[in-house]
Amino acid sequence: MIRHRDLEQLQELSQAPGKTLTVYLDVDQTNAANRKRQFETHLRDMLKQLKAANPDDDELPLAADDVEDIVKRIEAGGKTLALARHRSLGVTFRTVLKIALPSGAYWGSGAFLRPLLEAFDEHERFGIVLVDSKRARLFTVFLGEIEEHKDLISKVPPRPDAPTSDKLRSQSRMERRHDESVSSHVRMVATELGRLFDQLEVDRLIIGGTVGVASELARILPKRLRGRLVELLPIPITSPTDDILARCSEVQLRIERQEELEVVRDLLKEVRKGGRAVTGLGATLEAVNHGRVWKLVYLQGLKLEGGSCSDCNVLTDPADERCPLCGKPVEQETHLVDRMARAVLERGGHVEVVDGPAAEALRQVSEVAAIMHS
Ligand SMILES: [Zn+2]
Repeated sequence: MIRHRDLEQLQELSQAPGKTLTVYLDVDQTNAANRKRQFETHLRDMLKQLKAANPDDDELPLAADDVEDIVKRIEAGGKTLALARHRSLGVTFRTVLKIALPSGAYWGSGAFLRPLLEAFDEHERFGIVLVDSKRARLFTVFLGEIEEHKDLISKVPPRPDAPTSDKLRSQSRMERRHDESVSSHVRMVATELGRLFDQLEVDRLIIGGTVGVASELARILPKRLRGRLVELLPIPITSPTDDILARCSEVQLRIERQEELEVVRDLLKEVRKGGRAVTGLGATLEAVNHGRVWKLVYLQGLKLEGGSCSDCNVLTDPADERCPLCGKPVEQETHLVDRMARAVLERGGHVEVVDGPAAEALRQVSEVAAIMHS
């Protein structure tokens, strides 16, 4: 699992003299276009383009060869490969993320970490606690990965079976002792939860396990955690971590889809009132070229072709044969969406890739749109 301190370390290392080649590559095997290692071709295209934009750089082709070699050995077990190579330091950082990030190749001093840092900021960290009458398991889920932090077990005397009349009194005492122990177990879990989840900066909380105990825990949660409780889910306490991750991902996906829908609704509202948003490829390209985009929004998996002028560093509509600035013939650009995302990210903007109902709402108007800086 990638951590913030890994990024800080990388940031610092890559500030050394010399340049860093940073690559984000869509390697998602659920996307047919990436099967049979076709993502290697996509990488080659991106690197070729980068080399063309830096024709006098002797270091870049060497770094690009290194990266191509590394990618040949990558097992694609996630969605996005993030890779940074600083040749003169001999440092390579690589990780395969379980989340989708826009593909792009960047050459400059210091690794280009904005897409990763943005993912860290935007993705919520989920805390999950599974609880029964004497045990509790604590997990966090972040960037599509699950981590188990604690397995707490309390000594709770067993609850007696159905009472017989002559043992009624001792029976009820045993029941009381059992119930009190369960309550103190739940209180202990609540305290531990508060401590650990503050430390891990958990944004949202899911409680599962045995229904009765889970609801009791929900009732006595520390106040600051209560507002972060998303729901109670009947997940058995002995569930394997993969199952727990899957259940949590469903909840996360639902929340993310809702948030994407709000972004698209805001965008469309701005468009309707002629405010600070544009739709359509032409208008979006213009906004990107002028560095006015605060948030680029497009459909998941969108592929567009267009052109680019390497002299002026502008991206053009597929209908344009010549650069609108210098008049030179444009070069064909087969990954126009990647290039737009890269241009926006490089200038400090954001990228929102939408799917589900948000995509349906956006598609009514356009495949790609942008919200401007105010
Ligand atoms: Zn030009």
